[in-house]
Amino acid sequence: MAIHQLSETMINQIAAGEVIERPASVVKELVENALDAGAGRVEIVTAGGGLNLIRVSDDGSGIAADELELAVSRHCTSKLSTDIHDIRSLGFRGEALPSIGSVSRLTIRSRMASSDAAVEIRVEGGTVSATRPAASNRGTSVEVRDLFFATPARLKFMKGERAETTAINDVVKRIAIAFPGVRFSLSGSDRTALEFPEVDDAAGGRLQRIAQVMGAEFPENSIPIDAVREGVRLAGHVSVPSYSRANALQQYAYVNGRPVRDKLIGAAIRGAYADVLPRDRNAVTVLFLTLDPAHVDVNVHPAKADVRFRDPGLVRGLIVGAIREALAKAGLRSATTGAA
Ligand code: ADP
Ligand code: MG
Repeated sequence: MAIHQLSETMINQIAAGEVIERPASVVKELVENALDAGAGRVEIVTAGGGLNLIRVSDDGSGIAADELELAVSRHCTSKLSTDIHDIRSLGFRGEALPSIGSVSRLTIRSRMASSDAAVEIRVEGGTVSATRPAASNRGTSVEVRDLFFATPARLKFMKGERAETTAINDVVKRIAIAFPGVRFSLSGSDRTALEFPEVDDAAGGRLQRIAQVMGAEFPENSIPIDAVREGVRLAGHVSVPSYSRANALQQYAYVNGRPVRDKLIGAAIRGAYADVLPRDRNAVTVLFLTLDPAHVDVNVHPAKADVRFRDPGLVRGLIVGAIREALAKAGLRSATTGAA
């Protein structure tokens, strides 16, 4: 066969294979978009573990009528201007909406505050319809139906409604901790609804949000962390050794406000607790790392959950040292056992 260019839909479906692994990935991308748009309220509705329906509505900036088509076009973004090393928004690749649209039935309705009319665009299995007038409140509502109907091979890999719902809840909790000033609500076809009312970002709001997400017992069973080493700041809360879990799901980590899942951070936490926790137990932690954006690469993976630190040893040492010191200060471990 002669060499030819792949169709736009094929290209988007290939990208979707990386960016959109499961319904929770869609929720993550849509919630991140809402937050990037400055939303104060994010409402998530799902059905069938997100495979039948995911709807994310926000009261953010909205999308201009003449930009709606661009929003679902590949590599089109209003966020990244010129410098890949200085990314302040959650999104920056311009890949999520075209990817989602290529594997589902996607409808976006939006109204900017400055406009009195809303518009709507639909994408079905990669086919984009013309933008048309619609009815909508200020902000944006993105509806994804029949996820993966256009890629049956991917659909077969889904683990079932319960597992997908659990993954969606986890995504929302992770993001909600990073944005205490935003109200989140999540409701699905089962009883696993979440509701996180907005709290005052400044006055201890972060701990209030952590309690909303992780339960009121967590603050009572944790100690605060706040340490700086060579310009890298680590803040947060870590559980006392008696408050541990069988898995590491309740270890939340953020780098410059962005939720991350990072092996290095997980390993450092394990190291910090090595002499106070049995090997099969995991601490419950919420850690916020703040560092010069030039010292961390968030552009490692399309789903952006991984990061790469310029100085991994510094970050590891900071986490291990700060947690051990906090535990020792609280009288929960001897200050002399083990070195950071
Ligand atoms: P990215 O987030 O990387 O820019 P996306 O495909 O997720 O790429 O979104 C494309 C563009 O659509 C965004 O840059 C933004 O301009 C617009 N957009 C998407 N969702 C929203 C939203 N909820 N509110 C306002 N604008 C949005
Ligand atoms: Mg995005």
